[in-house]
Amino acid sequence: MKTETKLRIENLLRSVNLRRTGSRMAILDVLLHTHKPLSQDEIAAKLAPAIPNKVTIYRTLESFCKAGFVHKAFMQKRAWHFELADKCTENQCHPHFTCKKCGVISCLVGLSVSIVKGLKKGFVIHRQRVQLEGLCPRCVGKKGR
Ligand SMILES: [Zn+2]
Ligand SMILES: [Zn+2]
Ligand SMILES: [Zn+2]
Repeated sequence: MKTETKLRIENLLRSVNLRRTGSRMAILDVLLHTHKPLSQDEIAAKLAPAIPNKVTIYRTLESFCKAGFVHKAFMQKRAWHFELADKCTENQCHPHFTCKKCGVISCLVGLSVSIVKGLKKGFVIHRQRVQLEGLCPRCVGKKGR
């Protein structure tokens, strides 16, 4: 792990009062260097060969989500996909676009959707998650077989 990355991770953990552990450091390292949301299994695969057990990975991700710097971006094939929350605003995640043809999911960073209006009294929005689907630029020109 690069010193710069290590410092960034240590600062992040300190800012949310989470103790520095090997698995927290390693999982954050993966999330910092991947620019798309990853499922728990995908994270585990990237941690190889020193993979913490499933429960540890699960608990670590949950503690990151609770602390607020990691978000559950979307669910795909019954698995939540996790990403750092640094490209999200306080009550909204950046939208994600699923290509119906190739299945690739893109993070639409920098794009903003207005928060839903007309919600009945008594509901409080914590976060709005927008998922779009259609064809990605790579598939849009291709003829279907
Ligand atoms: Zn988010
Ligand atoms: Zn596509
Ligand atoms: Zn994303």
